[in-house]
Amino acid sequence: MLLSAERVIFAFSKEHSPALRLSAPSTLDVETLDCFSNQLRDPSDTIEKLDWDRVNPATGPIYVEGAEPGDTLKVTINAIDLDEKGTVCCLENEGTLGHRIEGAHVRVVPIENGFVRYLDLAIAVKKMIGVIGVAPAGDPVNTGTPGRHGGNMDTLMITEGSTIYFPVAAPGALFALGDCHAVMGDGEIGVSGLECPAKVNLTIDLIKGRALEYPFLENRDEFAAIVSKPTADEAISRATEMMFEFLAERLTYTDPEIVMLMSLVGNVQVSQVVDPEKTVRFVFPKQYAPDIKY
Ligand code: CA
Ligand code: ZN
Repeated sequence: MLLSAERVIFAFSKEHSPALRLSAPSTLDVETLDCFSNQLRDPSDTIEKLDWDRVNPATGPIYVEGAEPGDTLKVTINAIDLDEKGTVCCLENEGTLGHRIEGAHVRVVPIENGFVRYLDLAIAVKKMIGVIGVAPAGDPVNTGTPGRHGGNMDTLMITEGSTIYFPVAAPGALFALGDCHAVMGDGEIGVSGLECPAKVNLTIDLIKGRALEYPFLENRDEFAAIVSKPTADEAISRATEMMFEFLAERLTYTDPEIVMLMSLVGNVQVSQVVDPEKTVRFVFPKQYAPDIKY
């Protein structure tokens, strides 16, 4: 099954009509445009010609039969195939250092044999998906903003081999994704990773009757609670609390013992600090809780 990037959305909304309907579990390929809708793909493309109304396209939405509010959507990323070049930019007054630059700067950068060829450097590719989520319960949320529904979380851990759990808030879940990066540093301080069209292979499954507050991730070695809030401080607090609740429900240790364990081996990590809400993750290594499952 292949979902092409012909149908894209620029907001996650329960009002959208589906681009595809499927039953869970299903495995499919999804083509994604880059965050500029592939408008800046040649060195001659300038930011002046960019149509800002087409920024952050997400392919979809996918309607999952039987998904209802209060369920959890389980999405496993099997593979990410990137195009052979990507685009990075920085813009005056955008991001952490936007006051240090003038105007807009765009570079189209080749990707060869697992390396990004930026300037005279070879940077190892670290594939990831920037925008991935489901329709929120209330008003539509534009695809540039992260939240409970997922969205523009720009989280390095959202990559091949990861499973992400999303809180279903609308019938059918209305899942969509886009904004793949060939590489990005935690924080995405200049508002751009190496933005890259891609084809993503994923498996979508449904967990009935299991509610979730914010997206939760697991890979082979780690669990992560991924929370977006207006400030990083608020996001840190909630992500830490969410992981505590996850562990406390499953481990036989006392609450103080779990707090001490989290303090000893858990990691607060910053996903991104440049979107309308800041995204933080609390990461817990599975080796210290080998018998528990999501
Ligand atoms: Ca992004
Ligand atoms: Zn991006």
